[in-house]
Amino acid sequence: MPRTIVKTRAIVLRTMRMGETSSLVTLYAQECGKLKAMARGARKPKSRFGAALGLMTEIQAVCYVKETRELQTMSECTLLKPAPDLSQSLERLSFGSAACELVDRLTIEGEGNPRLYQCLSGVLHGLAEVEPEQVESLFWYFQLRAAAALGYRPQLSQCITCQRELELAGPSSWFSAALGGGLCAACGPGNGVRLAQPSLRFLAALQGLRTYSKEALPQAPAQRGEIRMALRSFLEYHGGEHSRLKSLDFLDGLNKAALPA
Ligand SMILES: [Zn+2]
Repeated sequence: MPRTIVKTRAIVLRTMRMGETSSLVTLYAQECGKLKAMARGARKPKSRFGAALGLMTEIQAVCYVKETRELQTMSECTLLKPAPDLSQSLERLSFGSAACELVDRLTIEGEGNPRLYQCLSGVLHGLAEVEPEQVESLFWYFQLRAAAALGYRPQLSQCITCQRELELAGPSSWFSAALGGGLCAACGPGNGVRLAQPSLRFLAALQGLRTYSKEALPQAPAQRGEIRMALRSFLEYHGGEHSRLKSLDFLDGLNKAALPA
């Protein structure tokens, strides 16, 4: 059976213990996309993989790849960038995990997407650097960019059904994950969930940013909960039945616990 040696830059999305000393590592590689590889002996004290296989680290990996097989073999790896320091808050850590989980759920093995790779690398390091009040907006920006990189950019400025400018469509607007964007007051009822006009306008502006920066960031509207739900339902819809993001469930649990009784 022919096998090829692939040398690639990759981000560690997930690791799982295999037996006493090995790890099953899910990587998102810059050129060839998602890759599941067995790292034999990775958990031995003096492993040749060292500390490079931590979650969210960026590595240079060498793998033996057989196209007919789902599980590949990693022969060596070098640490390029350590995992971002998200230990400052559970929120940062949860969004970082959610970004990795999202890429894992929304991609299949063997399909490269360098744009998605760039989005993931950008958000992981951005999460360690932005001000506390911008953490969630940065994650929203990542969700919008990831959707675009995967080919289902939501339509947020015009009604998805009648193409009317949503800006001119009055204060009440709607959003449909299945239809892929915003809806005006005439088309929305029965086809989506309510999403206030300022929230849609904010998302449209965020989607339009070429790079995320504090200065360019539009003012987030008051109803953060509905934005959170709209983006989440949109990506989970596209990911199919197993796309529920556990890291976001965890964060929702924390938000609820923080609410006054
Ligand atoms: Zn309409």
